[in-house]
Amino acid sequence: MVLVYIDQSEGQIKKASHEALSYGAKLAAQLGTSAEGVVLGTVKEDLAALGTHGVKKIHHVSSPNLDHLDASLYAKVLAKVAETTGAKVIVFSHNLNGKAIAPRLSARLKAALVAGAIALPDTSGGFVVKKNVFSGKAFANISLKSDIKIISLNPNSIQVTSGAGNAEIAQLQMDVEQPKVKVTSVNKLSGEVPLSEAERVISGGRGLKGPENWGMIEELAHLLGAATACSRAVADAHWRPHHEHVGQTGLAIAPNLYFAVGISGAIQHLAGVNRSKCIVVINKDPEAPFFKAADYGIVGDAFEVMPKIIAAVKKMKGLA
Ligand SMILES: Cc1cc2nc3c(=O)[nH]c(=O)nc-3n(C[C@H](O)[C@H](O)[C@H](O)COP(=O)(O)OP(=O)(O)OC[C@H]3O[C@@H](n4cnc5c(N)ncnc54)[C@H](O)[C@@H]3O)c2cc1C
Repeated sequence: MVLVYIDQSEGQIKKASHEALSYGAKLAAQLGTSAEGVVLGTVKEDLAALGTHGVKKIHHVSSPNLDHLDASLYAKVLAKVAETTGAKVIVFSHNLNGKAIAPRLSARLKAALVAGAIALPDTSGGFVVKKNVFSGKAFANISLKSDIKIISLNPNSIQVTSGAGNAEIAQLQMDVEQPKVKVTSVNKLSGEVPLSEAERVISGGRGLKGPENWGMIEELAHLLGAATACSRAVADAHWRPHHEHVGQTGLAIAPNLYFAVGISGAIQHLAGVNRSKCIVVINKDPEAPFFKAADYGIVGDAFEVMPKIIAAVKKMKGLA
């Protein structure tokens, strides 16, 4: 059986979990077995509806002790669920929570783990999982030989599949200990699209000269329902908060649209964004390395180009 970890935040299922469920269902079909899901903590959404992705059953451990992430405790609980359900492959999203839980579960179950898979495994002569390595410059095919196998799936790597059917919900009764991590306060960014889940991202670099010029980045992001991001140079200069910094040492993202304004395209920046489906670059230097990775490039001054793009989007949306 393939068990998919369904990630939730404040009771809402995360977008990446829909991908993980679709992946798990496809993998189960490939292996001639079934896919099931597991969710921890209080959930506000209709879990049965997740059956549309192809999972037959969802195990729910609804203890309030699991309402906030404590990765060690989650791994402990998931190990028990894996044991009782007889899961042979466990699928996570390779997001912040998945990155925290999957390695701990791997150690508990002595299960081989591939972190950041980008495709279904090749099961023709074993169990070989493909992932990006060297900041997306190469692929590695990793053969998993343990009895139980764990895969964390890079967000935006596969298409979400939806069909008909509801999943059966199995409430699992478990004694869950008190978490060792206590959440004392939560500072939520209101009204913004979370960067790690965004379909579209508008990002600015040092070419924007200073934080006072971010209005045009925010305006375009608002018009397109996009998240804002920046280069590390910008975050280091305190022009923007560090949680917006993307790249090798920041967040790795794979939105459908990555719009880079006044960013040179250093290898460390590209490492975090080169899996984006469509990259648009605005840079006044035609030799900027980012153009090599771009699907669309505009050689020009951001301060002239951006207002024109904003005006065109407003016109398209009937706002001007
Ligand atoms: C170990 C290590 C890890 C790193 N990790 C990261 C990381 O995770 N993420 C990251 O981003 N960087 C990272 N860096 C830094 C990286 O090497 C670059 O220094 C950084 O990305 C540069 O940021 P930038 O492109 O905004 O600035 P710059 O390199 O200064 O580039 C600014 C660009 O703006 C263009 N420009 C200037 N004026 C305009 C204008 N008016 N209109 C249009 N374009 C204009 C310029 O032509 C230039 O291409 C790392 C570096 C190291 C050594």
